[in-house]
Amino acid sequence: MSAIRSKDTKPEMIVRRGLWKRGFRYRLNDRRLPGHPDLVLRKYRTCIFVNGCFWHGHNVNIQPDNSPSALENSACCKIPRTNREFWVAKIRRNKERDKEELKQLATMGWHCITVWECELKSPRRESTLDSIAFTLNHIWLQDHHAKVVTYPSIAEEDILPMAAEDEAGYE
Ligand SMILES: [Zn+2]
Repeated sequence: MSAIRSKDTKPEMIVRRGLWKRGFRYRLNDRRLPGHPDLVLRKYRTCIFVNGCFWHGHNVNIQPDNSPSALENSACCKIPRTNREFWVAKIRRNKERDKEELKQLATMGWHCITVWECELKSPRRESTLDSIAFTLNHIWLQDHHAKVVTYPSIAEEDILPMAAEDEAGYE
């Protein structure tokens, strides 16, 4: 991924600044994780990838062969007409790798958010950043809620009888 994920690209900076401003803290380009996510938020157990629409083939429809017709342009990913076969194969590989890395991260218990370059252009920028913040808060609540649900059942079975014994001891 390092070959296609250049550091400090503009879209990535937009996400960093936007999340920092909204109070989120993160690590950058964690090399120990599959795909070297652009931002890693441990508290939210979430990885964020900021994808360039061309290199990562945003919204392109890929058929299972590398023929020039195997990949259709989308509004934000236009495959060059020259050497088309080469580009189709390349972008297809990139997409497959992205998918594989997301799968690995999910297996390791990470949530993943993919942000596309085109979603960070104005006028969509602020609403995209807001929706990332919303998703992160939602993830945190979900994880937190899971713990809240498990504790009372333990408390009722194990703690109440002990409390009853203590009371008996004082009498
Ligand atoms: Zn796009």
